Amino acid sequence: HQSKLPNVGTTIFSVMSSLATKHNAINLSQGFPNFKSDQKLIDLVSKAMNSGYNQYAPMLGNLELRKAIAKKYELLHAIAYHPENEIAVTAGATQAIFTIISTFINQHDEVIIFKPAYDSYEPNVELNGGKVVAIQLYAALNFKVNWQEVKEKINSRTKMIIINSPHNPTGSVFSKNDMLQLENLTRNTNIIVLSDEVYEHMIYDGESHQSACLFPDLKSRTFVVGSFCKTFHNTGWRIGYCCAPKELIQEFIKVHQFNVFCIHHPTQKGIADYMQEPKHYLELSDFYQKKRNLFLHLIKDSRFKFTPSTGTYFQVLDYSEITQEYDVDFAKLLTMEYGVASIPLSVFNSDNLDNKVLRFCFAKTDDTLKQAAEILSKI
Ligand code: GLN
Repeated sequence: HQSKLPNVGTTIFSVMSSLATKHNAINLSQGFPNFKSDQKLIDLVSKAMNSGYNQYAPMLGNLELRKAIAKKYELLHAIAYHPENEIAVTAGATQAIFTIISTFINQHDEVIIFKPAYDSYEPNVELNGGKVVAIQLYAALNFKVNWQEVKEKINSRTKMIIINSPHNPTGSVFSKNDMLQLENLTRNTNIIVLSDEVYEHMIYDGESHQSACLFPDLKSRTFVVGSFCKTFHNTGWRIGYCCAPKELIQEFIKVHQFNVFCIHHPTQKGIADYMQEPKHYLELSDFYQKKRNLFLHLIKDSRFKFTPSTGTYFQVLDYSEITQEYDVDFAKLLTMEYGVASIPLSVFNSDNLDNKVLRFCFAKTDDTLKQAAEILSKI
């Protein structure tokens, strides 16, 4: 049979995590915490199971959870999303992204993405016959977008633009000006914006998260995607959501209903209850900023060079002073010989552009970060 994705192998996250396990390395590759989430949340989910939330949830998601999501946008941004028809709960942000792309992308539609880009976007577009139009961002320019270039790439075939701030893998964030530029470039068009905001609650050094929902014209054609897995330290629960104007959610649900139909119900109810206390997501930036600071402090005398990450729980490190080896090879060597696993950035770049940069996840216990930093400082 002919592969629908001839150029796609196994996602780098599985490749590096398996290699880490095989070589008993400290795993700072795939983005997940190695500490337990709040016991209170776990208790609320088991309580939901014990009190009967065990049958199908509504397709758009448990209404209490949708209300809790709406309340969060109200509280954080004074923005209204209607829980009845503008919010859908999904099996992780990954499914939201897949379903949004499947819902709207037809043969030959163009989708603009910024590279380095999260690895699922491109295959999702290709599976639907769409064409990725990539715009490369560069470490030397702090991964800033040249909006003039975006303007030049937009044409009548442009169906979607995918943005991701705070940005995985680089840890950079879009400024208000970036968002205004995007809003202006897409004004009076039918371009759908997919705004992957799964790291919205991890933003540092006084920066504020510029959600696409804050820009009225942009909001009218945007899917904002969020993740409870990232926010509540349970990446295995597979639960996220998207918010969009009701006309867009109406189309989304046509695909969603025959994809997963609905999401694990007790988890939804447990999270809805847990979100009644906003501190559970408001405290996250402080929590992770401390971890970032600790990690960077511990490696400050190493031969790795860095600009501190402004968001996400990832830090990119430039190793060009250590070796000129290809980043994929160096990441493997670091895992197998030194015992620290990371993610090479080239796999997210256009034409595998190799910047000699690796991504490290600092969502780890302080002990783990210390052990990893000790090794990295000796290289
Ligand atoms: N989002 C996670 C990361 O960037 C990985 C998700 C996955 O492994 N599918 O590391």
